[in-house]
Amino acid sequence: MSALEALRAAGAAGIKLVLDGDDLVLTAAKAPPDTVLSELSRHKPEIVSLLRPGRDDWSGADWLAFFDERAGIVEYDGGLQRAAAEARAFECCVVEWLDRNPVRSSPDCCLHCGGSESAIDPLLPYGTTDHAWLHSRCWEAWHANRNAQAVAFLSPILRAA
Ligand SMILES: [Zn+2]
Repeated sequence: MSALEALRAAGAAGIKLVLDGDDLVLTAAKAPPDTVLSELSRHKPEIVSLLRPGRDDWSGADWLAFFDERAGIVEYDGGLQRAAAEARAFECCVVEWLDRNPVRSSPDCCLHCGGSESAIDPLLPYGTTDHAWLHSRCWEAWHANRNAQAVAFLSPILRAA
């Protein structure tokens, strides 16, 4: 069983896991199965790091829950095969990560190329709440980098799931 599987098994067994510093605190309404407890203890360091919230306030466990929920919705309501549903769910996580990790930059220069604004090449604000200022020709490359960042962050958490 991987750390992620142990985390899922704990959830399925009704165990609530909370971090207390570097310790895991378990609560459950009824006695959890021994196999789940031993897997949790075997993977404790990984599980602790999965439960620790990141810069955007979401922990690995939060991403996993979001991913599972999306994959379930797409699989059962959308009628897709599991692999396709997981691919779609991963895309949803990328979009969510981009929303939760907005970039704000100065309107004085392009965040991608560092160049300034000109009459034929204005800087435009991208993003909903925080704005990244970019030349329109720079947006595509900048956005591809941001996507790659999201994938690099999420892949180790979700690909093993
Ligand atoms: Zn630019």
